[in-house]
Amino acid sequence: MPTQQAAPAALDSLPSPGRTTRLAQALLGTDSRQRPTLQLLGLAALVTATVVILLVYAASIGVADVLQVAVLTSLFFIFILGFYGVIRSGLNQRFADPTLAMPQTILAQTLIAGAYAVTGPVHGATVIMLSLVMVFGMFSLRPNAVRHASVYTVVLMGVVMYWCSQKQPLHYPLGQELFNFALTAIVMLAISRLSGQLSEMRTRLKTQKIALEQALAHIKEMAARDELTGLPNRRRMMTLLQEHATRHARGGPRFFVCIIDLDHFKNINDTYGHAAGDAVLRAFATQAQVVLRTTDMIGRWGGEEFLLLLPESAPGDPTLGVARLRESLADLPASPALHDLRVQFSAGFARYEEGEPIDQAIERADRALYAAKSAGRNRSVVL
Ligand code: GH3
Ligand code: MG
Ligand code: MG
Repeated sequence: MPTQQAAPAALDSLPSPGRTTRLAQALLGTDSRQRPTLQLLGLAALVTATVVILLVYAASIGVADVLQVAVLTSLFFIFILGFYGVIRSGLNQRFADPTLAMPQTILAQTLIAGAYAVTGPVHGATVIMLSLVMVFGMFSLRPNAVRHASVYTVVLMGVVMYWCSQKQPLHYPLGQELFNFALTAIVMLAISRLSGQLSEMRTRLKTQKIALEQALAHIKEMAARDELTGLPNRRRMMTLLQEHATRHARGGPRFFVCIIDLDHFKNINDTYGHAAGDAVLRAFATQAQVVLRTTDMIGRWGGEEFLLLLPESAPGDPTLGVARLRESLADLPASPALHDLRVQFSAGFARYEEGEPIDQAIERADRALYAAKSAGRNRSVVL
């Protein structure tokens, strides 16, 4: 099949990823959804590596039991590799929070508490790791979850510190343990508070982003609309015409361009005033939208001129819709305030010819309009 033959050629032409990119892809996979989760695990691995170094150091200087260190180190590796496996296999996507931030945080704190208990005289260094884990958690967990993880950490450390002070008072003197506990509790409290503020900030940013998006959509809408009539403006109509010309070149439907110009409009302004003229333009725009086919597009071209884009759904008279509009206007007041006045218009039609610049078709429609005016107005001419 041609598409199958084309694929390798397309791949060949792509720049081949660098060695670092290939390594990152091998480690992190190509699923962009999983990237933040794996990055979080990377941070957990960093904390783990630091604690493992401390454990090995404590064992090497003879202040920690080698067996306990070996067990804890293995658990740390199982923890990291286990989560890595779950994430790379995609199993994490089945959980409410696929980042698995809460179980990672709880497990990390539990293992660090274990390291605290077995590292004897150098145990103080592990306390800072508890804070580091919570700081990472702060960016991935909801404030409530951070609070729960903080309470868990404080209670767990309270138990471990008390137990250690009872079992090994030499390396864990009660006074020092009380101080460590107070430090842990204060840091956890501060992190909980900060996490609440961070979440508020995120919510505020999200609200501001939505408001900005809405404002931008509104501005775009305004930039494409004529203020007086609410119809698409000249710029928008030009874009639509270009789009239809491109679509036609790719096999889309043919279309007609039609320019409508209200007859003797200046008289209305001169007789009833500019505001009355505005009301007539608005009434005309409303009526045109009511009468024309939904596939026909009308926009204000400028002044008392309107441009119509009429897709040709089937061969036939392109002027029928405009004729219907003309008939309907014969029975309709020119505006709600001008009951007895009727509005008339002349229209020039041009069929868009494939490949021609859109301006050329517009110019033909303009010429057709001029011909309609010259022939006595209130009529349509096709060129
Ligand atoms: P014709 O049948 O040959 O088209 O005659 P006409 O009087 O309609 O044409 P002309 O070009 O002489 O006048 C158009 C008038 O439309 C002049 C201008 O003041 C008025 N006009 C243009 N834009 C607006 C507008 O936004 N509001 C109002 N009220 N009048 C407008
Ligand atoms: Mg005019
Ligand atoms: Mg006119």
